[in-house]
Amino acid sequence: MKPTVKPAVKRPGFPVRLEPDAGTPSATKKVAGRAHPERDTGIFDFKKPTPTALPSGVGLDSKAVRARMVHKLAAQGIADAQVLAAMGQVERHRFVDSALVNQAYEDTSLPIGLGQTISKPNVVARMLCLLREGAASPQGKLGRVLEIGTGCGYQAAVLAHLAQEVYSIERLRGLHDKARENLRVFRLANVHLLFGDGMAGYARGAPYAAIIAAAGGEAIPPAWVEQLAIGGRLVAPMHVAGGAQALVVLDKTPQGVTQTVLEAVHFVPLKSGTS
Ligand code: SAH
Repeated sequence: MKPTVKPAVKRPGFPVRLEPDAGTPSATKKVAGRAHPERDTGIFDFKKPTPTALPSGVGLDSKAVRARMVHKLAAQGIADAQVLAAMGQVERHRFVDSALVNQAYEDTSLPIGLGQTISKPNVVARMLCLLREGAASPQGKLGRVLEIGTGCGYQAAVLAHLAQEVYSIERLRGLHDKARENLRVFRLANVHLLFGDGMAGYARGAPYAAIIAAAGGEAIPPAWVEQLAIGGRLVAPMHVAGGAQALVVLDKTPQGVTQTVLEAVHFVPLKSGTS
């Protein structure tokens, strides 16, 4: 079955309402200091036993704990080596509150303030695998990617390893600022943080090879489909029959848009406007 895309319940406002400074996305600011903390080859030996201890302090042997998380993801069926390598590189503990650092590499979502959450690693990995299956170039990298719902910036950081350019938009000023702060240390020149209502997408970066949303609405906003390149793929949570939320994949082909509904998920709501 190939159902057509449902119109959004709340249509996004046009033109895109972005702050003046958001109109020209800036790469995360470069700072002096260590480049790419703990950057390594990104290659994991999945068979190698990894420690079970959690970090007792920020950054303390976090590479080994992350390798254990990656090991678990692989055991759960995440098979894309590039996604696993990216998840193994990004220091998730830098994105959560210091009180939650010990849980940073558990397969759980965690609060990031303002009622929002960082998605659990398994869901992040799953969505990135789906994006890459549908939209990666033969060289294996995604082109330009739009992320709706920057939150703390974690997924944007993982995406930075898998895509040429990442445009990530957040509607809550507090989280947009927090993400900028969190990402500073990673010096990811290809991540562009935007403050605005992601329901309208970000037309100036379009067309996108891939679009990924971290918040779920009643339908996929039409702007996202418009801004997706032909051959591109969109992965987002969306409400389905019975009030449940499911992961939805849209593929934009020269013949039209196909929609596939996958497993149930629990994401925060997609909201319009900014605050
Ligand atoms: N990828 C994030 C997950 C954040 S949770 C991470 O790694 O931390 C989802 C985020 O989507 C929340 O921060 C929420 O404020 C944001 N959001 C919800 N509706 C939005 C909209 N219309 N535009 C932009 N961001 C939105």
